[in-house]
Amino acid sequence: MIARYTPALRSTRLAHFPMLTIPPARKGRRNAHRRPGEGLWTRLIRLMAVLMAAVLALAWWNHWERQQAERNIILDNARQAQQTIARIIAENLSQVLEQGDRLAVAARQVYDRDPLKGLQRLDSMRSSSPLFPRMVLLDTNARVLHATSPMAATTLFEPELHRLTESTFTGPMAVATPARAGTTSNALVLPLLYAVRSEGGQLLGAMMLDLDLGYLLGLYFDLALGPTTQVQVVAGAGQVLVDAGASGLLQNNSLSQPTLLPPSQTHGSRYDTTLRPGEVVQSTWQKLASDDFWVVVHRDLNDILGAMPGASRWNLAILALLTLMLTGLSAWIFQASREQRDLVSSLQRVADENHELINRLETEKQKAFTMAAHDHLTGLHNRRMFNELAASHLQQARRGSRQYALLYLDLDRFKNINDSLGHHVGDLLLKTTAQRMRHTVRSTDVIGRMGGDEFAILLTDLERAEDAEHVAAKLVAALVEPCRDLDGHDLQVGTSIGIAVFPRDGDTIETLCRHADAAMYEAKRSGRGGHKFYDPALNRAGDWQFNLEQRLPRAIQHDELILHFQPKVQLTDFRVVGFEALVRWDHPEHGLIYPKDFIPLAEDTGMILELGAWVIEACARQLVQWRNAGLPMVPIAFNVSSRQLRDEHLPELIAATLQRHDLEGCWLEVEITETGLVESTERASEALSAIASQGLRISLDDFGNGFCNLSYIRTLPIHQLKIDRSFVSDVRNRHDDAVIVESIITLAHNLELGVVAEGVETADQIVHLKTAGCDQVQGYFVSRPVPAEKATSQLRQTWLHPR
Ligand code: C2E
Ligand code: CA
Ligand code: CA
Repeated sequence: MIARYTPALRSTRLAHFPMLTIPPARKGRRNAHRRPGEGLWTRLIRLMAVLMAAVLALAWWNHWERQQAERNIILDNARQAQQTIARIIAENLSQVLEQGDRLAVAARQVYDRDPLKGLQRLDSMRSSSPLFPRMVLLDTNARVLHATSPMAATTLFEPELHRLTESTFTGPMAVATPARAGTTSNALVLPLLYAVRSEGGQLLGAMMLDLDLGYLLGLYFDLALGPTTQVQVVAGAGQVLVDAGASGLLQNNSLSQPTLLPPSQTHGSRYDTTLRPGEVVQSTWQKLASDDFWVVVHRDLNDILGAMPGASRWNLAILALLTLMLTGLSAWIFQASREQRDLVSSLQRVADENHELINRLETEKQKAFTMAAHDHLTGLHNRRMFNELAASHLQQARRGSRQYALLYLDLDRFKNINDSLGHHVGDLLLKTTAQRMRHTVRSTDVIGRMGGDEFAILLTDLERAEDAEHVAAKLVAALVEPCRDLDGHDLQVGTSIGIAVFPRDGDTIETLCRHADAAMYEAKRSGRGGHKFYDPALNRAGDWQFNLEQRLPRAIQHDELILHFQPKVQLTDFRVVGFEALVRWDHPEHGLIYPKDFIPLAEDTGMILELGAWVIEACARQLVQWRNAGLPMVPIAFNVSSRQLRDEHLPELIAATLQRHDLEGCWLEVEITETGLVESTERASEALSAIASQGLRISLDDFGNGFCNLSYIRTLPIHQLKIDRSFVSDVRNRHDDAVIVESIITLAHNLELGVVAEGVETADQIVHLKTAGCDQVQGYFVSRPVPAEKATSQLRQTWLHPR
């Protein structure tokens, strides 16, 4: 029962509700996930990070290369130094050992010809060198023949002596644990055993020489080689004979202690990890040329490399610092970009949600409108919807040459039936009537139930005005047919129809309705069950409306009009933020007459222009009064009807009034109705722009009742929406109206428009509007429209807290 539109009407209606389609600007936002800016930013950051990483890698590689080169040079230098020392020591040792050889040759004399003379010669040869502190001569049985200083046990030499007899060995042989000589801590003696042979090669005995290695080696430790340098003299079998470090001589307790055996080359170097736990040692060796002894020089790699130039460490430190800084920077940039991305996506999400919410609200609003647009009993349009559709048809009618007619009808004696047979039967009768009406008129005509038993039909696209008469006659005939079995009752009711023709009898739906209504009463007066065209002459005779019309021009000139002011308050604190000027006619005979009784009249007759000018002037005068009284000023809004909006002098009139009173535009506001807008679409935009450019704010009055064409509204300089009283009054009771109010507020805020709720009469409504986010309210609950003096005291009072 909801969808009663004919195809033609549906398209008309939709044409006036483009808000029901999503505005194109918003549509695009859904796909806005991939923003070009966002991708570019991320890519740029990535590129920067990669570049930074590459630069860092290059710097580190360069540093490593240079360090390796430096290291190699240092190691090379150290190796050469070690080699040189080993060679020098080896050479010296060779010379010393050769000296021993010479002594052994000289010792022959002691064994064969002249022992005494031989000894003397030997002693003098030996004592000339500080390297041999002691000499002992032994016979082949290891008995001491001569000793330059006391000698304890000689059995010690027996095995070695045995080796001397067996072999052809001539060179010295280290024979025992080196012993400390004297008290000097770094004095170390190495006992060497020489074979003494006859010229024929026969073993005569042996000579033992203590070699003072401390003396020999001590010379070299003055060379600053570093604290870990160690010099070893090693026998051919790999026994360390002496071990000397920078701190002095390190004595080996036993000659049998195994040590590293140099490889077969006479000299060379290598790295060793076994010598000192946890240390890599660079060892260089040199074999003695004449004898089976080796000199080995060791030095810790760390010691060597400790001498790396400081610059390289500086480089390292700077590089490390740079790395730290760049890594930190990258981390920060990444973090920042992630935060930015999160922010963008959450904003996007919020925008999407907002968009979805608006869509939902629009859909709901549409639904609510549809529901609110129909009369639940008959399925016909209700008064609001009928007016809306009829007005939109008239808008089309203005462009064409076709005739339109408005039929107003009510059922004769319906009240009697309702009262006597009950509402149920009354409802059934209304339903049947509605059905018959639908079957009688064309599907393109608009039918509405205007309330009770009153119906209105807009006949569209008539060739001649008289065609309306045929339809009226058909309707009278159809409705007078008896209605069978309405809850057991057979009923027959007639109808009276009034006809007003567009544009002859009025060019707005309100005027047509009023005139068709008048014609219907005329029809009833002249006998029920007929129809009548609207006749201005007949209608006005004796009608007080006619009187009003006659008097109105005088009323304007003689200042019979007065303004009442109704405050608008801010919903947060009930501060008065403006007044609306509402005109009244203080009639000398009839007393106060309200606008509904003379504004339509003024509109029909064109007197509204004069009336409107009077209102603007009166508003300005009131503002000047407030200004002169030194009161805090608030703007006054005045109502402008569509006829006024079409008047091209309106902007000039406003400008002149402002100028005359030396007022700024911001103190006046304009209220126009949606219907007013629609009836003068072409002019409206131009006129409103001209008005807004003077600083006046513009409100859209009675919003929700007319053509909620938001995309059209967007193009106009509208600052505020005033939600129509009809929605506000049921905001607590009717779900539909609550939804409409909420969606209007959301949509308005979305378009950056302020929202005023009109006709607020209860605290309940206030609560609801506040929750829905409404900005301002106006209505009896805060204050009725009041005369100027009362308005002035309200302005002084500043806040109007409702009781
Ligand atoms: P409007 O512009 O919508 O003005 C609001 C109407 O609602 C006023 O009726 C006001 O008295 C009434 N109203 C305010 N609060 C409440 C409330 O809480 N409950 C109820 N039931 N009504 C409330 P009023 O003064 O009779 O004016 C009726 C209409 O006449 C106005 O509707 C406006 O369209 C028109 N009008 C009034 N003054 C002028 C004017 O100077 N020029 C023009 N062109 N039209 C005017
Ligand atoms: Ca208004
Ligand atoms: Ca209003």
